[in-house]
Amino acid sequence: MKLPKVNNLGFFEIRLESIGGMGANSAGKMLADIGVLSQGYNGAAFSSYGSEKKGSPVKAFVRLSDAKVLVRVNSIIEEPHVLAVFHMNLLKNPMTLMGVREDAVVVFNTSMNPDEAREFSKLHGGTVVCIDAIKIAAEEKLPATNTVMMGALVKFMPFLDMTLFEKKIRDQFANKPDVVDSNIRAFRRGYEECEVKEFKAEKKYPYIPFKKPEPVYGKKNQPIGGYISAAGSSTLKDNTVTRTGRIPVYNSDNCIHCAQCEIVCPDLCIVFDRNKEDGKMYMKGIDYQYCKGCRKCVKACPKSNSEKEPDKSKHALIDDIEANYNVSDITCSRYGKK
Ligand code: SF4
Ligand code: SF4
Repeated sequence: MKLPKVNNLGFFEIRLESIGGMGANSAGKMLADIGVLSQGYNGAAFSSYGSEKKGSPVKAFVRLSDAKVLVRVNSIIEEPHVLAVFHMNLLKNPMTLMGVREDAVVVFNTSMNPDEAREFSKLHGGTVVCIDAIKIAAEEKLPATNTVMMGALVKFMPFLDMTLFEKKIRDQFANKPDVVDSNIRAFRRGYEECEVKEFKAEKKYPYIPFKKPEPVYGKKNQPIGGYISAAGSSTLKDNTVTRTGRIPVYNSDNCIHCAQCEIVCPDLCIVFDRNKEDGKMYMKGIDYQYCKGCRKCVKACPKSNSEKEPDKSKHALIDDIEANYNVSDITCSRYGKK
């Protein structure tokens, strides 16, 4: 089947904006594998990982072209025909929507409807597709949202054969038979449960052209060597963008203040404070500003063992979907915010 549209070099281009651990890299490879190896297009798939750790921003790129068009371009995709945003927190970075034109399809992983998602993202125009991939993945007991997102993506790429994806999922998880059916169900639900709406670029929000990011510091403004002017290792000191949609929720009623969570947390999010009366340290909560949602704290907590105690209301740390909470209401910050 002919590609529905191509750019001036002859490519149909897909950009996946994601977070390490959400499976965008594998989703991109799967799209390209099926397009190239099973359907005879030419193509390429590659990713950009940054520090290559779970929780850090990841971009995956897929190019497909007619078999006669050779792939001689290896640069990142600047103006995608299809963009997938694997987590709404990624929209804090204006680069996420760069180069997305009015004729593009934008798939958001969100519980919002397309009108809400368009307002939230300030997208100038395009086809908005909303799929609550975190909820579906949680219901199917899957750790990553990528098969759900792929289901929604494939709906807007009818030139790719949906049945080949199901076969590919079976092959990919051949050594984990217990998750094959749940991944296929998640893929189908992504296809069937997404909501779609087209928005004209009526100048309500501006188009953001692609621009290569310039370094913030150069020789004229770099801070004096050896002097750290702000505590924390990142400019904004805000890790919320790296969370993968699940968070630990603290229930102080069940906590025994053993500090096992504090020992394992890689980002020092667990807040303890000394009680003036008895001089002992007590857990106060979780600083979500730094939490990347790895839930190592939940696994380490002796009061949060789902096998020994299935009733989550008796747990001290509850592994839950972030969307169920207004994190700003339950944030415990060491810097004086609530
Ligand atoms: S999920 Fe727990 S261990 Fe992981 S970063 Fe957040 S508070 Fe720390
Ligand atoms: S939340 Fe769990 S691991 Fe952390 S101090 Fe309380 S009981 Fe211990």
